[in-house]
Amino acid sequence: MSRRRQIYEGKAKILYEGPEPGTIIQYFKDDATAFNAEKKGTINGKGVINNRISEYVFTRLAHIGIPTHFIRRLNMREQLVRQVEIIPLEVVVRNVAAGSISKRLGIEEGEMLPHTLLEYYLKDDALGDPLVAEEHIACFNWASHEEMQDIAAMAIRVNDFLSGMFAAVDIRLVDFKLEFGRIFDGDFSRVILADEFSPDNCRLWDMTSGEKLDKDRFRRDLGGEEEAYQEVARRLGVLSGEDNGPGEVLDMDAHRSRLRTPPPSKPKK
Ligand code: 5GP
Repeated sequence: MSRRRQIYEGKAKILYEGPEPGTIIQYFKDDATAFNAEKKGTINGKGVINNRISEYVFTRLAHIGIPTHFIRRLNMREQLVRQVEIIPLEVVVRNVAAGSISKRLGIEEGEMLPHTLLEYYLKDDALGDPLVAEEHIACFNWASHEEMQDIAAMAIRVNDFLSGMFAAVDIRLVDFKLEFGRIFDGDFSRVILADEFSPDNCRLWDMTSGEKLDKDRFRRDLGGEEEAYQEVARRLGVLSGEDNGPGEVLDMDAHRSRLRTPPPSKPKK
């Protein structure tokens, strides 16, 4: 059996070399961590659900013109994505006060923010992902001014679209974290959305009951995290309980290998 080369193992995902240059396979684990990995645990089936939710969200975002790294889902826990040079920033979008902003600024959790807030954190586990200003980003050249303009515009569009998408299934999109990466074309580079979108990196509250349907259930020892993740998937209509084959192909010439694979022949009657 050929072994794939592992490129990186993170807290919730493993990255493997993809089948052709410029591609990566993202494997979603059940492992859960919080507070900069001080708290560790497992959420059974999380990897399978996050793979499906992230596929769904990235596919919908591609349909409205947001460039993403997603190419296609390969199986229950893996998706094929474009290799990017990750921009070392966590881009947090907030609609409602919760989590660190409530703690840092003493704003009651649940208070609607006067307008959507964009925050940037440096991706650095050793430093605990500190909040940084755009001046720091420019000063240390973590991203160019043009890249930051693209990132901010995309983050706001993602928020508008996903707020509506979740509201349609009675869920409030409180906040979320995005990551972006560069892809190169000769001398030019452009920024695309990377990483994942799942209940691991957003806050989702039931609009009616206020119940938390995201990783805060794990962070705050509320219990019921498996059921909460399943409920989000169920409301979005992405979980049928079984693996019903790979989904839509979004990139890399409609993922070349798929075109080369003839569809299965129908059994003769
Ligand atoms: P906060 O700053 O309130 O802790 O997080 C704001 C939002 O960004 C939450 O939805 C949270 O899940 C997400 N977020 C912030 N930092 C991280 C991180 O390092 N990993 C993950 N998975 N999500 C994060």
